[in-house]
This record gives sequence, C-alpha cells and structure tokens, in this order.
Amino acid sequence: MRTGAEYIESVRRLKPTLYHRGQKIDNMVDHPSLKWPIKVVAQIYDWCLDPQYQDILTTVSPIINDRVDRFLHVFGSVDDLLARQKQMRFLQTHLGGCAIKCTQLGMVNALYSTTYDMDKELGTDYHQRFLDYLRYMQQNDLLVTGAMMDAKGDRSLTASQQPDPDMYLHIVEERKDGVVVRGAKAHQTGPMFANEIAVAPCDMMRSEKERDYAVAFAIPSETKGITYILQQNLADAMCTACVGAEADLGNPTYGCQFGATSLMIFDDVFVPNERIFMKGEWQFTRHLVTRMGTMARLWQTGCRPAIFDLVMGATYLIAEYNGIARSAHVVDKLTEMSYLTETVWGLALGAAISGKPTPSGAYIPDPLLTNCAKLQSTRAFYEIIKNAIDITGGIIVSLPSEEDFRHPEAGKWMEKYLKGAAEFPTEHRLRVVRFLQAMTGGPLAAALHHSGGPMQNQKIIIFRETDFEAKKKRVKVLTGIEKEG
Ligand SMILES: Cc1cc2nc3c(=O)[nH]c(=O)nc-3n(C[C@H](O)[C@H](O)[C@H](O)COP(=O)(O)OP(=O)(O)OC[C@H]3O[C@@H](n4cnc5c(N)ncnc54)[C@H](O)[C@@H]3O)c2cc1C
Repeated sequence: MRTGAEYIESVRRLKPTLYHRGQKIDNMVDHPSLKWPIKVVAQIYDWCLDPQYQDILTTVSPIINDRVDRFLHVFGSVDDLLARQKQMRFLQTHLGGCAIKCTQLGMVNALYSTTYDMDKELGTDYHQRFLDYLRYMQQNDLLVTGAMMDAKGDRSLTASQQPDPDMYLHIVEERKDGVVVRGAKAHQTGPMFANEIAVAPCDMMRSEKERDYAVAFAIPSETKGITYILQQNLADAMCTACVGAEADLGNPTYGCQFGATSLMIFDDVFVPNERIFMKGEWQFTRHLVTRMGTMARLWQTGCRPAIFDLVMGATYLIAEYNGIARSAHVVDKLTEMSYLTETVWGLALGAAISGKPTPSGAYIPDPLLTNCAKLQSTRAFYEIIKNAIDITGGIIVSLPSEEDFRHPEAGKWMEKYLKGAAEFPTEHRLRVVRFLQAMTGGPLAAALHHSGGPMQNQKIIIFRETDFEAKKKRVKVLTGIEKEG
C-alpha cells in the first residue's frame, strides 16, 4: 500500500487541464484550495499503514489476497458494510471534512455487481475486464473517483430528449479499439487529483434510443480531452484569504473544505476497449444507478453522525467558554443534538446490517433503511446547526480575523472584550467559534438566526406575551372548576 508522500508525489506528476478563477493551475499540491483535500487523502493513506488503524481502515481483498484500503474493497458480507460505517465515523471525526474517497467505493461495488449481471444475461466479458482493472487498482493502491452526475440541462427531459445531446455524457464514435465520448460530469469530488476516474450514467436509460448514454468506463484523470473547472465558494475564498492565518479556516489541520468539486468536461475523449464496462446495455443502467446511489447514501449516513459529533463537541466547548453549559435550555439543546445524531447512526447501522448479496456475491445495503437514514441525516443536520448557532451567539458571524487578533493594538481589545468565562483563554474561544462557523454553513444561517436575538430570547417574550391565564380560565370554566366571569 502507498504512503501519503507517495500519493502526493503521484499528484505532483499529474498535469490535468485545470482552471480556477480564470487561470490554469499547474501545481495542485501547493494550491491554497487544493492543498487541503490532497492532505486529507494523503493522511488516509498514512493511517491505512498505521497498525493502530489497520482494522478500521483496511481489510484483506480476496481479489489480490492482500491488504487493501477499504475504499477499494468489494463488500463480501454484512460485516464489511458495518465496518464501512465505522470507518466513516472514525474518518470524519478525525478529519472534520470530506474524506474525498467515497465515490470510488460506490463505483467499485456498483460496477463489480452490475458487470457480473450483464455477463450472466448477455454473455459479455465486462466482469472479467472490470476485475482486471480492480486488481490493478488494488495492487497499486490508486485513487479513483466515481463520476456519475451529468450536467442534465432541462431536468424535465430525459437524456435523449435534451435539445443539446451533450447534457448527458454519451458515445459519439465507435472505433475498433474503443469509443469516443462527449459530455460533462458536474460537481465532481476530487477527480483532478485522483489517479483515475471511473464514469457511469447518473440516470436510468429508458430505451434503445438512449443506448449511447449507457456507457461506463475508467481512464486516467489527465487523459487528453478532459478539462476541469474548479469550484469557487466561500470555503475557497477563505482558503485564499487565510494563507498565513490558517486558524481562520476553522479547521487549521485539514482546512475548511467540504469536497473539492469541479465541472469535468469530456471533449471527445477516447476510451480503449479494455477500460469499457458498459457500452449500450441501457437495460442495466437501472442496476448501476440504483446500486451506486444506495451505496453513496449509505456512507453519507456514516459520515453525518461524525460531523454532528464535531459540531456537538464544539458547541459544548463554546457553552463552557461562554459560561452557560449548565443552563437548562443549553443542556436540552445538547441532548437533542445527541439524540438526533444517534438516531441517524442507528438507522445507518440498521441499513448495513440488513444488507443483502447481489448475484455476484457483492453485498449492498438495504435501500429502504439507507434512504430513511439519509433523509433523517439531512433533516437532523438543520436542527443540529440551528442549536449550534443558537448557543454560539452572534460572534459566529461577527468574529474579526486572526490577523487582527495578532495585531498589538487590535489584538489587545479582542483579547479583553471577546473573552468568555475567565478560566478559558480568549484564543480558545475564537478558534472554536471559527470552527463552528465553517461547520454550520457560513455566515448567512447564523446572521439570520442571531440578528434580532437567539431563539431563547423570542421564547421568553412569547411566553411572557401569551395570555395563558385566559386559556387556563377557559378550561376551568369548561371543566366546572370555575364559573364564567
Ligand atoms: C459537495 C458535492 C460533492 C459531490 N460529489 C459528486 C461526485 O463526486 N460524483 C458525482 O457523480 N456527483 C457528485 N455530486 C453531485 C450530487 O449527487 C448532485 O449535486 C445531486 O444529486 C443533485 O443533483 P444536482 O446538483 O444536479 O441538482 P438537481 O438535480 O438540479 O436538483 C435540484 C432540485 O431539482 C429537483 N429536480 C431535479 N430533477 C427533477 C425532475 N425531473 N422533476 C422535478 N424535480 C426535479 C430536485 O429534486 C431538487 O429539488 C456532488 C455534489 C456536491 C454538492
């Protein structure tokens, strides 16, 4: 298995066509936005080699009879699915950001099981091809990202109904030695610093008319004809602004990125036959899409409780730093956060335990419980950040910069006036506030929440302003306790 340093060296050698803010990026490893997700991936490589994390992060693959990163493993049992959930909770609580590698695991398992089904029914040889590819990936411990999501154009139209046929990636030319594809995959997590990309349709294809859209393959990430355009969001702006003041990222260990995404364009890209795992078999897109979707959702439900753990931990710390940790409403909110977190985790484990084997022997999680868990995790997230923002206070929006804190004049005032309870250093409070700012979705949610006062303030007034006496009186009259008047 590779070390983190070996992975980073492999990224240094990659020369993808990559744009960000109107410029071409040549050095991804030292780029202010990209260096963080690359560091995350490198750290996972190193942890896989660390004996204390070996069981949680790696397993023995029967394909190469050797130890592999769980992100490259075909699930052979319910225990594998459960181990995957525990891997996610470990990784996310230790990284505090996107683990980047998840799409590779979904793609590995969806292609493994679907190519098997295709060969059984159609007599093709896709499964053997895919096994050869997977063996190569496992032996070289490579990073492959899974690219599904098409540009999609008008969402009310199917692939073949789009006025521009390139809105879904498709075959534009068939040659003896392979195919040429055109289209784009949107919101792709980390393909530019992956060694390989594996591509599949994002939607079920419905008829022979859509056969050219039923295409799955894997190619090196810097293949000629592929262009990446990197995301630009508040996290990227912070990454650029905070060079040299990295505590302001909130997570100065791994950055505040949550997924380094890009628009990935395939401008007539050649794919050789040995790397094609589906070519026109539109009936099997259903298997591929639903399996990939179910698995992607499963690990999100392993990931979210870990993120909630961090938000909860940070919120408790802030409550202590602000001197309100014992207040009844704070205890109630922290308890609610824990309850929501563990409810998602229970469903996440249930979805894994209820997994079933596909005909290939690869297990997939229970789709009903997986989807319930994912839905619940999204709902829980908004409740959890609402409580975190509430307890943190307006400083989650108004906190000045680390540079101001280090400035001899401005810093003196911040040290004095941004202190909470006397026993805690001001800097600890500021670091945790910044962490929560990054973890709760940026300033808008908190600005809307706190301008005008936190929820408890409104509850106090509502309680005070509500005429409970009149309501009690009505009940007393109706139940014969008191007379009218
Ligand atoms: C951080 C991040 C990382 C990601 N990483 C990857 C990755 O690595 N690989 C990958 O393949 N994908 C990735 N994705 C893509 C992700 O799966 C999609 O963003 C998601 O599925 C939603 O698709 P969309 O963004 O195109 O939104 P849309 O599909 O446009 O959805 C927007 C709204 O339109 C509605 N809608 C869509 N179609 C219809 C319809 N026909 N009728 C009625 N309503 C409709 C939806 O329900 C939703 O309410 C990532 C996304 C994010 C945000």
